[in-house]
Amino acid sequence: MSDPASNSATAPRGGLTRSTNRGFSVFAVALLAVGVLSAVAVGSWLPDRGGHSLLWAGPLLVVGFLLAEQLAINVDVRSGVAWTISFTEIPLVLGLLVAPFEVVLAAHVVAGVGTLLGRRILDRAIYNAGLMFVEISVAFAVAEGVNRAFGSSGPPWAGAFVGTIAVPLVAIVLGLTALQLMGKSMRVGNGVRLVLQTLVVALLNTAAGLVAYEIATTTPWGGVLIVLVFAGISATYLAYSGLLREQRDLEALSEVSLRVARSGQRATGPRDPADDADDVENNDEWQLIADRIREQLNADRVVLRLRTDPQASMQTLVSGEPLPEAMRRADSRSSREDPMLQLPGSHVRYFRLADASEDVVDALVRRDAREALVVPLRGANQLLGAVEAHDRLSRWRGFGKADIQLLRTLASHLATAVDNRRLLARLRHDAYHDPLTGLLNRPGFREAVAEPLRQTPASVVLRVDLDVLSTVSDALGQAWGNRMVVAAGRRMRDSLGPDVPLARLEGGSFAVFLAGAKAEHAHEIAERLRAGLSVPYPVDRLTVEATAIVGYVAKSVCEVDEPDVDAMLQRADVAVRATSEAEPVRSYAPSMGQIFLRRFQLVTQFRHALEGGQISVHYQPKVALPSRQVVGAEALVRWKHPEFGRVDPDEFVPAVEATGLVDVLTDFVMDRALERVRMWLDRGLRMSIAVNLSVRTLADEQFPDRVAVALEHHDVPPGLLTFELTESGVMADPERALPVLRRLHALGVVLAVDDFGTGYSSLAYLRQLPVDEVKIDKSFVLGMGTDLGDMAVVRSIVELGHSLGLVVVAEGVEDDAARDQLVAMGCDIAQGYLISRPLSEERFEAWLRARTVQVRGARDETVLTLVH
Ligand code: C2E
Ligand code: CA
Ligand code: CA
Repeated sequence: MSDPASNSATAPRGGLTRSTNRGFSVFAVALLAVGVLSAVAVGSWLPDRGGHSLLWAGPLLVVGFLLAEQLAINVDVRSGVAWTISFTEIPLVLGLLVAPFEVVLAAHVVAGVGTLLGRRILDRAIYNAGLMFVEISVAFAVAEGVNRAFGSSGPPWAGAFVGTIAVPLVAIVLGLTALQLMGKSMRVGNGVRLVLQTLVVALLNTAAGLVAYEIATTTPWGGVLIVLVFAGISATYLAYSGLLREQRDLEALSEVSLRVARSGQRATGPRDPADDADDVENNDEWQLIADRIREQLNADRVVLRLRTDPQASMQTLVSGEPLPEAMRRADSRSSREDPMLQLPGSHVRYFRLADASEDVVDALVRRDAREALVVPLRGANQLLGAVEAHDRLSRWRGFGKADIQLLRTLASHLATAVDNRRLLARLRHDAYHDPLTGLLNRPGFREAVAEPLRQTPASVVLRVDLDVLSTVSDALGQAWGNRMVVAAGRRMRDSLGPDVPLARLEGGSFAVFLAGAKAEHAHEIAERLRAGLSVPYPVDRLTVEATAIVGYVAKSVCEVDEPDVDAMLQRADVAVRATSEAEPVRSYAPSMGQIFLRRFQLVTQFRHALEGGQISVHYQPKVALPSRQVVGAEALVRWKHPEFGRVDPDEFVPAVEATGLVDVLTDFVMDRALERVRMWLDRGLRMSIAVNLSVRTLADEQFPDRVAVALEHHDVPPGLLTFELTESGVMADPERALPVLRRLHALGVVLAVDDFGTGYSSLAYLRQLPVDEVKIDKSFVLGMGTDLGDMAVVRSIVELGHSLGLVVVAEGVEDDAARDQLVAMGCDIAQGYLISRPLSEERFEAWLRARTVQVRGARDETVLTLVH
């Protein structure tokens, strides 16, 4: 008997393992009916063997049939086509020779159905029982017919021989019919090959059985000879099949491992998080792996459950017979409750309908399976999935020890390979993604964009900067800033859709790539993104506001012929820097490049400039109103650049702030200022100097200590040092700035709020700050002469400042009219071009000498008063 099982065809001979189809069930019942009827007919038609009635042959035949099927071996005919050889013809031909019809029939049916029923395979049992009735009836009928045809002249074994050969042919015809009914078909070529192979094996088996019978019955002690020969052949076969199996198992193992590795190579490149999970269900490589396992185990179905991405849900892939609908739809919860998927340890578990607990029976029935091998796939530190193999494709035998062992080894190989793959994927993912937002990072953006940038003539790179990000981070702490970045990233992703490459470059700066976008379209998208990002962010119970600026560059505008991602990003960055409040979205123009270059140079050259003496401090006097007494000066930094000439602090201070070198700047200015105050003190003059502080300095916890050291070093009373801080600077991060301010205040230095009126805070807010002085922003003072509104602002600041006990300073006093108005309002101190422009050290000293007179102060100290 032969049983070729190829990848695609279920063996029609050797019993069917599954029926899912009504047509087949009807066919099985019909076959059983036909079988029984023909058995009855044949039984009554056959002449009674009477004296031959050897009842003891029954049990022997049962054993024979069982053994014949058990000893079946798989032979690799060609790769992919296995040929299962069993020896059923041997007991059959012997039965035909010696035993009555009823006995052979009973033995065959008992051996077959007994085994099948033992495994509770009902529908298969009906078909197979029917098949056995038909087989034995045909065998005896054909044998009788041949014997009658030959009469006594022919060979005495002719009937048995032909009768036996007829059986596998009948079985094949019925098997192919059943296959057809189950909706499957076999190609004609395959069918013919199957018939031929079956015939060859049947001939060999039958002949061997006859020879054995002849020798056993004619030669004295011939039986012993036969037993010896069969034992030898069987042993050789078993050893050979064991070897074959081992070799094939090894092949399967290496193939599966290889495939797993290969399937991983597919997921290269930095795809966006949206589609980053490795899709097991749509991966051919995984399907082939499942197929290979199924083929190797000779199983009816293999279910591969796998979670390649720790965040994703378990995916299920089936090879062979599809899972019943209900099982296919099973969600993760039901699979968590599935008794067959409770997988402690990592060993293979074998479930059979025959000896399973009630819930396992349920689980098997849900799978429409009679037996199942289940093994977990355990990675280094978690469950990666599981492999299930259902129903071995064989008439009687279920999964065996070798199958279990193979599956165990396969599972461990598979798990290791998946683990390695995951690790690789993680490493690759981490290399290309920003851990905070899950968006691409700069290298990831480079990778993702390089190719499409080269291929699409019209493409645009956008740079989006979340504007107040640093201040939010400083003000509310890193975690808050991070949450805003994440929220902003999500808003952009939602707005752009899942397919547009989106990266977080650093801090609150993002990059977007628009393939094939026209400039107007890009501008629209930029505006949309900006609008989306400007919607207030609810963080905990607070609402944080942020604004965004966007710069973009079209490939065609880029001066380079074939710009790479970095060139595009750099230009988009230049465009971002060129944005303003009035124009928060800007497109790159080549002329912007110069500005960028200059800024870049300023940033990189600052420290060098400081050490090389290019940085100096100028002083602008402050005079008391109305007494005109010079109370001190504001220290204003200057940079005399060898190439650019005089650089405005408004230009380079923000650049220096961005690099973190602002501490160096502040310390430098403070040191110069204190030196000057000391000099004046030595001359008996008590004049203070105001130093401007940047936002960053206010966040520096060490700053008050450095101030204390500097004051001591120059031996200057703290009251002669003023720090000017902008309102927005304090507001940006009150939580961090306030302690620093309090400590500065505790030192005794004077704190002034600069540019007052330009920020958002109310004067009442000042009450909570440890400040002594408020400086009205020069824009109001300058506008006072022409704008009544400005006048009103100045007046109210003076009044409110005084009501809070603050000294009120007006800066930007350019003319007498303004000064007079300020005097009338009661403003305490004036500063501006009317009095003097900021002057270098020497010129400031000269100004003091030329424009002031020494007078005796109220407490008998020397003071300088401005002369008319
Ligand atoms: P600020 O603190 O508001 O400084 C006052 C600015 O107004 C100075 O500009 C000054 O020259 C200018 N100014 C003074 N009087 C008049 C006037 O009557 N009319 C007009 N139109 N302007 C007048 P400057 O020196 O260019 O400084 C600009 C800004 O740079 C400063 O604004 C300050 O925020 C920053 N800055 C200057 N030096 C430093 C420093 O050492 N450290 C820090 N962190 N920032 C500094
Ligand atoms: Ca100032
Ligand atoms: Ca100011």
